[in-house]
Amino acid sequence: MTFQEFKFHPDVAAGITVAGYATPTPIQAQAIPAVMAGRDVMGLAQTGTGKTAAFALPILHRLQPGPRGKVRALVVAPTRELAEQINEAFAAYGKQTRLTSTTIYGGVGNNPQVAALRRGVDIVVACPGRLLDHIGQGTIDLSKLEVLVLDEADQMFDMGFLPDIRRILKAVPKTRQTLLFSATMPEAIRGLAGETLTSPVTVQVDRVAPAVTVSHALYPVDQHLKTALLLGLLKHTDTESVLVFTRTKHRAKRLDEQLQKAGFRAASLQGNLSQNRRQAALDGFRDGSFQILVATDIAARGIDVSQISHVINYDIPDTPEAYIHRIGRTGRAARSGDAFTLVTGEDTAMVRAIEKVLGKPVERRRLEGFDYTVPAPRKDSEFARPPRQPVARRPKPAAAASTPEAEAAKPASSRRRFKRNGARSGNDR
Ligand code: AMP
Repeated sequence: MTFQEFKFHPDVAAGITVAGYATPTPIQAQAIPAVMAGRDVMGLAQTGTGKTAAFALPILHRLQPGPRGKVRALVVAPTRELAEQINEAFAAYGKQTRLTSTTIYGGVGNNPQVAALRRGVDIVVACPGRLLDHIGQGTIDLSKLEVLVLDEADQMFDMGFLPDIRRILKAVPKTRQTLLFSATMPEAIRGLAGETLTSPVTVQVDRVAPAVTVSHALYPVDQHLKTALLLGLLKHTDTESVLVFTRTKHRAKRLDEQLQKAGFRAASLQGNLSQNRRQAALDGFRDGSFQILVATDIAARGIDVSQISHVINYDIPDTPEAYIHRIGRTGRAARSGDAFTLVTGEDTAMVRAIEKVLGKPVERRRLEGFDYTVPAPRKDSEFARPPRQPVARRPKPAAAASTPEAEAAKPASSRRRFKRNGARSGNDR
C-alpha cells in the first residue's frame, strides 16, 4: 500500500514527502481511510506504531478546504511532552496547508496560550486540566469543533483524568467526529468509548504485543548493586541512546546525578523540573548531547526519539502494560532495540506477569566480570529499600514523601495515585 492511495490533498501529501514516509504503517493503513470517511474510530495501538500520523494526516486533509482561525480539531493528550510532540507532528505534516496549531497545558504561563487562541488557531493539542481552565474562563471557543481526538486514553484514565474528559465532552459540540486511541482497553476506557463514539470503526495493531524488533533481557541483581550494575552495563554495551526508567522522580533525579558523576552525558525527566528544563532535557536527548535520559513512566510517556537503542528498566514497572509502553520507546518504526530490566528477588511476580504477556520466558543474563557478591553497606545505600515498619511508627506523610526511600516504601496503589492540585498535567512520576 502507498500513501498515494489515500488521495490526500496535495498540501498534505507534500507534508508526508517531507517527513520521508514511504509506506503507511499498519495502523495508518487501517485508520486513515476510516477517518477520511468521517467515521468515529477506536484505535488500539501503542506508541511507536505511527498512530499520530494516522489521525493527524486525515485531520489536516479534512480541515484544509475550510475556514481558518477557528478551533476545528482538538486533540486531548495526557502529558505536556506528548502534546508538544503531536503539535510538532501537525506542524511538520501541515507545513504547506497554512493550518495552524497550538498547545495548551499547565505548568507554563496562561497568557501566551490566551494570546495564541485569540489570534485564531485551527488545531489545539491540550492536556485536560489547563484545557478545562480555558473552557471555564471562556478563553477557548470550541463551538466550531469538527474533530475530537482522545489520545492515550488509558493513560489519561490511569492519571485520574476521566472526570476531566467527561467535562470536556460536555463542552464540545455533539455533532462531531471522535477518534479515541488507547494502547490497552481497560473496562473504564471501553465504557468511555461506548459513551463517546458513534458506530466506531475499530482498528487494532498488536494489542499488547511489543514491537517485534525489540530483544529483551533480565539482569537479576541485589537492590544495593543496581546502580553499579547499570554503570557496568552502560560501559560494556554498545549503546547509542539510552532511556532509563525509575519508579519515582526522586530516584530518576538521583540516578541522573550518579550517572553524570560517573562521566556519562545524562539528563533526567521528572515532574519537578520547570517546563524549560524538561524541554532542554528532551531536546538534548533528541540531538544526542545527552546519551542517557533517566525518566519515570509518566514523564516519559509518548517520548518519540526514533534512535533510542536501549531501554533499561532500572526499576521494574508496576504492570505488564507499563512494560510494553516503556519498551515501545525502542525499536520504533522498525528499528531494532534492546530492553534490559534489572530485577531483584521482590520482582518475581511481575517478571512472571510480563513473560505471560510476551508469551515466552525472558532471557536471564549476567554481566561478565561484575562482582555480584559485594555485600550491602551496613548503613543502607540511598536506593536500598528501608526495612518495612508498622504504619503507626512511620514518620509523618509530608516528611516521608520527600525522600526516595519513603517513595519506594509506599504501596504501589498509593504511588500510582495523583495529586489533583498542581499535577494536572500528570507529571508526578
Ligand atoms: P507514533 O507512534 O505516532 O509516536 O510514531 C512513531 C514514529 O514513527 C515517529 O518517529 C514517526 O515519525 C514515525 N512514523 C510514523 N509513520 C511512519 C511511516 N509511515 N513510515 C516511517 N516512519 C513513520
